[in-house]
Amino acid sequence: MPATTDRSADVIVVGAGPAGSVAAWELRQTGRDVLVLEKAAFPREKVCGDGLTPRGVKVLQDLGMDLSPEAGWVRHKGLRVHGGGVVTEVDWPRLQHWPHFSLVLRRSELDARLAAHAEAAGARVHTGITVTEPLLDDAGRVAGVHATGPDAEPQAWRAPLVVSAEGLSGRLAKSLGLVRREDRPLGVAVRRYVRSRRAADDYLDISFDLTPAGPSRDSMPGYGWIFGMGDGTANVGFGLLDTRRGTGADHRAVLRAWLDTFPAGEGLGEEDAVTPLRGAGLPMALNRGPAYTRGLLLAGDAAGTVNPFNGEGISYAMETGRMAASTAAEALDRPEGPAREAVLRSYPSRLRAAYGRHHRLGLGFLALLARPDVVRFTTAHGLTRPTVVGAALRLMGNLTDGRDGDAVDRAVAVLTRLAPAV
Ligand SMILES: Cc1cc2nc3c(=O)[nH]c(=O)nc-3n(C[C@H](O)[C@H](O)[C@H](O)COP(=O)(O)OP(=O)(O)OC[C@H]3O[C@@H](n4cnc5c(N)ncnc54)[C@H](O)[C@@H]3O)c2cc1C
Repeated sequence: MPATTDRSADVIVVGAGPAGSVAAWELRQTGRDVLVLEKAAFPREKVCGDGLTPRGVKVLQDLGMDLSPEAGWVRHKGLRVHGGGVVTEVDWPRLQHWPHFSLVLRRSELDARLAAHAEAAGARVHTGITVTEPLLDDAGRVAGVHATGPDAEPQAWRAPLVVSAEGLSGRLAKSLGLVRREDRPLGVAVRRYVRSRRAADDYLDISFDLTPAGPSRDSMPGYGWIFGMGDGTANVGFGLLDTRRGTGADHRAVLRAWLDTFPAGEGLGEEDAVTPLRGAGLPMALNRGPAYTRGLLLAGDAAGTVNPFNGEGISYAMETGRMAASTAAEALDRPEGPAREAVLRSYPSRLRAAYGRHHRLGLGFLALLARPDVVRFTTAHGLTRPTVVGAALRLMGNLTDGRDGDAVDRAVAVLTRLAPAV
């Protein structure tokens, strides 16, 4: 680790999850001096499904990472979708702009690799440093952060710009008055690893058969997953995509009821667990904003960038990490003052332009998912037609070639253009 005596940089990135490490890597591509402050030490656990859709794979390819099976990545060629007794396999679409495979890697490993990648690009990554609050100048503008190190000594770290990539907690954002919007969904997801017969599989299983425990067989607004980790274990969990819609459910009971829909002996149950059930929130649809204020840019979960259609957050964390970084770099190229500020203030609009319309459609999807009659009808009729499922997955996964694409992509592009941005 670099010496902690040099505590100033062009940009400080708080948090070395996917958003923070990719932001740091991107800043290094522009030649900027970057400090990354991370409270944990790698490898550290992050509660997650560990799945990277082709969208996430694309960022990792752009970063030039070794994504070979020899490097421990597990590839999947598509999704196996379960719902109402119907099971359909769909391959990832073959598109110009996106790879046609997904990847799985434990987050403990993924995040350690991304941080190492940023460090190899020249970022100064410090672990074991907990950022406690922003350091403000006399005008109330962010001039760095206060943090505590392993010896709990408070330290000031200085930079004209700070990227908050702290994840859901968003401590820095909160202390500058950027609170979570209550009118946007916050999901919740839980997962555990099991020793399973489904550990090696070409397809990722997802299922819309979640029901509350008890006599009601009504569907719940979310989905379950079984992702083979390729090491004898599978990551099994589920996400409820909108906690505003009465989902104070007993997670363990929901998981048990859902897993009971699979044949016995697959190695999916509690008796097969190799880790405890753990959960965390899914902040969606740009639910904290504006994503820039007074020298602080938000990226990833700190800005609430999880896709409301499917709870996917890693791709968006990495993409917004890059966007925050390029905005910061462009701003630093301008003289301090109004010209620089104008660039920084454009960042929230960049996020809305990139995701706002898709997220708006996602909010509509969540409203439908909350209606068991609609889910019953759609799974019974839609899942029997792989082309319909494929088209829906492109929309949900935000994976199309847009107007350059085929008829499905062009239809999705029209639909997305018609939706007002969130
Ligand atoms: C159960 C579950 C399953 C999921 N499955 C998937 C999936 O399969 N695929 C997918 O794409 N997404 C999934 N997600 C969402 C995904 O995990 C998140 O969207 C993603 O981790 C966001 O990345 P991030 O970099 O913004 O934040 P994080 O990954 O949360 O990283 C934040 C980092 O900041 C550090 N930090 C926090 N506070 C401080 C501080 N004060 N000082 C210093 N450091 C700090 C943390 O230690 C952490 O390293 C899942 C989420 C859950 C809960």
